[in-house]
Amino acid sequence: APASLRAPDAIFGQGRMNSRGFDLSDEDTLAAIEAARAVALPDAAPITVSPASGTPVALRDPATGAEIAQVTEADARAATQAIADARIWDAPPAERAAVLCRAADLYEENFGPIFAALAREAGKTLPDAVGELREAVDFLRYYAAEGARSARAPRGVIVAISPWNFPLAIFTGQIAAALMAGNAVLAKPAEQTPLIAAIAVRLLHQAGVPLAALQLLPGQGGTVGAALTSDARVNGVVFTGSTETAQTINRAMARHMAPGTPLIAETGGLNAMIVDSTALPEQAVRDIVASSFRSAGQRCSALRCLYVQDDIAPHLIEMIKGAMDELTIGDPWQLSTDVGPVIDAEARDGILAYLRQNKARIAHALPAPQSGTYVPPTLMTVPGIAALEREIFGPVLHVATFRAGQIDKVIAAINARGYGLTFGLHSRIDARVQEVSEAVHAGNIYVNRNQIGAVVGSQPFGGEGLSGTGPKAGGPLYLNRFYAPAQPGQGQ
Ligand code: GLU
Repeated sequence: APASLRAPDAIFGQGRMNSRGFDLSDEDTLAAIEAARAVALPDAAPITVSPASGTPVALRDPATGAEIAQVTEADARAATQAIADARIWDAPPAERAAVLCRAADLYEENFGPIFAALAREAGKTLPDAVGELREAVDFLRYYAAEGARSARAPRGVIVAISPWNFPLAIFTGQIAAALMAGNAVLAKPAEQTPLIAAIAVRLLHQAGVPLAALQLLPGQGGTVGAALTSDARVNGVVFTGSTETAQTINRAMARHMAPGTPLIAETGGLNAMIVDSTALPEQAVRDIVASSFRSAGQRCSALRCLYVQDDIAPHLIEMIKGAMDELTIGDPWQLSTDVGPVIDAEARDGILAYLRQNKARIAHALPAPQSGTYVPPTLMTVPGIAALEREIFGPVLHVATFRAGQIDKVIAAINARGYGLTFGLHSRIDARVQEVSEAVHAGNIYVNRNQIGAVVGSQPFGGEGLSGTGPKAGGPLYLNRFYAPAQPGQGQ
C-alpha cells in the first residue's frame, strides 16, 4: 500500500502512534489542566546566538483586551545577524530524531503553559488547544520516524514563517521537518502569537536542538519577514498564511535568492461541501457546523460554501440554524465554550464590515459578546461560490442550493475559483462519491464526515492551485523538500 495508507503505528515505527491527547471527560485530567494553565505567561523575545536588537510591544488577550505579556520584536538587523550565526545541525539523523522525540515528550509534560498561551494569546478553546498540542507532538514524532534513517544532506538555512491560527502545531511542524533534515532554522512566528512560539523553542532547545540550528525571531512581516525572505544566504522558505503573502515572498525570493530556492507554501482556500438528497441529515448538519464554526472558522480547511440539493434544502437549513443556536460563544477558558473570539480587532472589524455589506444575505446570526474580538456565527444565502468575494477567515457559512442534474455545474464553479484545499461531500451514492471526488480539484477530500482536523500520518494536508505548492504536511513526501537535491546543480 502507498505510505499514506499504512496504519499510523507502522508509519511512526517502534510502536509509536498518534498522540492520545487529553481526555476532557476525565475529572482528574480536567483538574490538572485547570491548575496548570493558571500559570502566568512568560514574556517573549528573540532567541538568537548574538544579542538581538528590537522593540518591546504589549501583547493583548483577544477575549478581554487585557495586556498579557511583553514581546520584544526583532528588527531587520537582528534577522540579518541571525542568518550569519545559523549553523546546520550536523548530528547523525538518529540523534536528531531522538532529540525531536524528547521534545515531543517535553511538549506533553508542559501542557499547562502551552494551553494557557493558546487560550490567552490565540483565543483557543480547550478542545482546540488539546487538538493543537496533539498535532504538534505528532509532527515531531512523525518526521523523526520518517527521517531517522536518511543519509541525505540538508539544504542549509531554512526560514520558517508560520500563522497565528495554529501557532503551535504548524509552527512546530515546519521547524521539525527542517531540523529533521539537518537544516539550520530561523523561525518567524505570526505577530499575534510570539509567546507560544517562545515556549516551543525553549522546549526544543531543552530537548537538545542546538541554538545555532534554531533561532526565534518574533517580529513584523514587513521588517523581519522581509529581511529573512530577501537574503541570498537563505536556502529555502517554508510558509503558511495568506495567498497574497505567499506571492510577496515568492517575488522577494526570485529577486534575491539563488534560482531553484524552494518556497514550500500552504495558503488559503475557498472550501466547499456538497450535500445531496441521499445524505443523512443529522450527520451532515453536525459535520457542517463543525467544519464552519469550530476554531471560530479560523482554519484554512474550514467550510466556506455549502451546496445543498434543493429538495432537502429548506429542511436542512432549518436544522443548521437549530444546531447553530446550540453553540456557546464566549470565554475560551470555559469548557462549555464552542466558539471563542477571532484573533484580533483588525480581523473582527474586517469580518463585521463584510457582514454589514452583505446584510441582505444573512439568514441567521447568533448573538456574540460585545466586548473582546467576538464575531457572531453567521449563515448567509448566496447564489453560488462565485458570489464570495474572497476567503472570509471567520465563523461565516455561505449556503447555496442546486437542482438534481446540476452537480457538474456546481463542481465547475468550485474549480473555477482556482483554490484547492479541502472539499466535503455528503452522499450515500457510491458512484457519485467516486465521480465527484475525481472531478473536484482539492488536496483533501472528505466524504460523509467533517472537513477539518487532518491527522498527521494518515491524512497528509495540503492543497493545489492558489492553496499551496505542496508537498503535503504530515505526509511521506514532505521531508524530501528539506534535503539538498539528490544531484547538486540540477535543481529539483
Ligand atoms: N490542518 C488543519 C486542518 O485540517 C488546517 C490547517 C490550517 O488552517 O492552516 O484543519
